[in-house]
Amino acid sequence: MTAYERRRVLEPSRCVAAHPEDPTSCAGPLDAVTVLDSHGGKAAGCEHHAARLLASLDGARVEPGSVAGAATRAFQAADSIRPFCWYTSAPRTESSQLSRAEERIARNHRH
Ligand SMILES: [Zn+2]
Repeated sequence: MTAYERRRVLEPSRCVAAHPEDPTSCAGPLDAVTVLDSHGGKAAGCEHHAARLLASLDGARVEPGSVAGAATRAFQAADSIRPFCWYTSAPRTESSQLSRAEERIARNHRH
């Protein structure tokens, strides 16, 4: 059983892309987008959680799911979402803790 499958068993009301510690609810169909992690794992998710998962995983990609255009929107949204954004008390000083858009800005300022 993969980690994603276990999550589906534990939390049948939320999509598989929803992180167990992310308290937010799903938005839209639970299989709107498919997220592929860099280890070959696949997770079907709603558009909201697919974007958050995508922002949190290095080397992750999205594939279209049941909703046309949702994968593209999730990909674009992930750019400005911080990795593991539901940890609101975590310090945001390392580049790995910033969103990709913030990281680009920080990088430009360093040069
Ligand atoms: Zn979801």
